[in-house]
Amino acid sequence: MNAPSSHLDRRSLLKTMGAAPLLAAIPNVVRALNDSDVIVIGAGLSGLNAALLLEGEGVNLTVLEGRDRAGGRVKSLRNIPGNPDVGGTAFGPGYARLVDAARTHGVDLIDITPVVPYFFRRELILDDEVIPATDWPGHRLNPFPEPFREVMPWAYTNVLVGSNNPLQTTDAWLDPANEKFDIALHHWFSQQGQSDAVIELAYNTNPTHSGTAWDVSALQVFMAAAFAGMQRQLAAAGPIMGYTAKGGNQSIPEAMAAALKSEVQYNKTVIGIRSGDSGAEVHCSDGSIYRADRVVCSVPCSVLRRIRIDPMLTGLQDKGVRTLISNAINQIHIVPKKPYWEDDGLNPNMFTNSLAGMVLAEHKGAVPEDITSLTIWIRGLNAAWMDQQATGTAIAAVISDLERQRPAAKGQLEVLGYKSWYRDPFSAGDWAVWQPGQITEFGAEVATPHGRIHFCGEHTAIANRGMEGAMESGERAAFELFEVL
Ligand SMILES: Cc1cc2nc3c(=O)[nH]c(=O)nc-3n(C[C@H](O)[C@H](O)[C@H](O)COP(=O)(O)OP(=O)(O)OC[C@H]3O[C@@H](n4cnc5c(N)ncnc54)[C@H](O)[C@@H]3O)c2cc1C
Repeated sequence: MNAPSSHLDRRSLLKTMGAAPLLAAIPNVVRALNDSDVIVIGAGLSGLNAALLLEGEGVNLTVLEGRDRAGGRVKSLRNIPGNPDVGGTAFGPGYARLVDAARTHGVDLIDITPVVPYFFRRELILDDEVIPATDWPGHRLNPFPEPFREVMPWAYTNVLVGSNNPLQTTDAWLDPANEKFDIALHHWFSQQGQSDAVIELAYNTNPTHSGTAWDVSALQVFMAAAFAGMQRQLAAAGPIMGYTAKGGNQSIPEAMAAALKSEVQYNKTVIGIRSGDSGAEVHCSDGSIYRADRVVCSVPCSVLRRIRIDPMLTGLQDKGVRTLISNAINQIHIVPKKPYWEDDGLNPNMFTNSLAGMVLAEHKGAVPEDITSLTIWIRGLNAAWMDQQATGTAIAAVISDLERQRPAAKGQLEVLGYKSWYRDPFSAGDWAVWQPGQITEFGAEVATPHGRIHFCGEHTAIANRGMEGAMESGERAAFELFEVL
């Protein structure tokens, strides 16, 4: 097969390639030696998207997945009413690839527009004191300067970043012109005249990335804000603010996996990848060895650095894989025995500066106002603390913290789900956290093909984040292979 010409866009490239299956171009000698043309490691969204695109062009695949299920960091709790998600939670109208995958593979999407307003209403509870929004501007615990004293703590970072975001497009975070923002978010806050007390409440209390604003690059937070802004703009232009999938978002990767002609091999933990002159080998912990012409590896760096790669990665790519961390985040899912918020008259949603972090009610019932379960989001240093405790101790501490703040909840909280993403050996954390300076140093290196090994995963996405970033990266990896197969 001829190498695709660079002026073809991706869609026309796919169409062109449809006319000439790739398999025909692979020398027989290579196919005879190898079990398949390509091994995809990981049946999360990125690996599955790469696999489906490759298979669609006639590539013979083996997909190896360490867990016993598809979806990776997309996981739905089917034992809880409404199937809440303990991983990838919701997606915006700009998630074109994900929405397309759901539609193509027959997954019904739920329009979450009617329930979105509920998520913005929260009780602010600081130092165990419930602070009504009307009291907040004049409250003694409010460190925010004018004109931001009315902004609630959970919205403050977005407001500040949103009105000062230097990124015009989502992919500009990798533009060398923006290197000057590859500094600690804490420094950037300070440059905006924000005090340490503001940073503590607005960011460190329930941080989205890393333990504190010292450990994340402002550039990553700008990218996240630009991406969220893009989703909001698209939502404003149409009737739909966002989606989840019927049965939980895990239904999407499950349907993608089911659509593959080659069945995903589950419970296959990869421990080594070798790239040789005539082919690649993938070694699993059960002793099995798979051979192929090429490998697509979709695991996050926090896991990849435990997999032996031969020949070893070098230079900045090696540094990236060994040092890019994944966020610590934990969730507790609760089905309340009774709606205790009707007893104390407060909103079930909470933003706290204690162990319970943030509590959000899930509205996944027949009508928008129905509360089907509660999710406690524990982030940052609180998540790190939990990860050092026995699971039962950690959960009990959070529940007693919540009950202390909401006495009406005492004895009413039935825990039906708990997840520490950091303690999960197949993810070792949640989304990638780029620490100050890392984007400049190796942002462009982590996804560089290494011999016959190609990389994808949300940490390698360029213009999208989260689930759509994973899909984007799988597409990019598939196109890399179209160039070389
Ligand atoms: C709590 C939480 C909330 C989130 N909320 C959102 C949200 O609202 N919106 C959004 O867009 N995104 C959200 N995300 C992020 C989103 O879920 C991820 O970015 C995305 O699912 C990552 O997909 P991936 O394919 O890159 O990685 P993964 O899903 O991690 O896929 C990698 C796969 O490789 C497998 N694997 C790992 N190690 C091995 C090994 N050694 N051998 C074999 N297989 C292996 C894993 O089991 C996994 O299936 C959230 C994530 C979490 C955890």
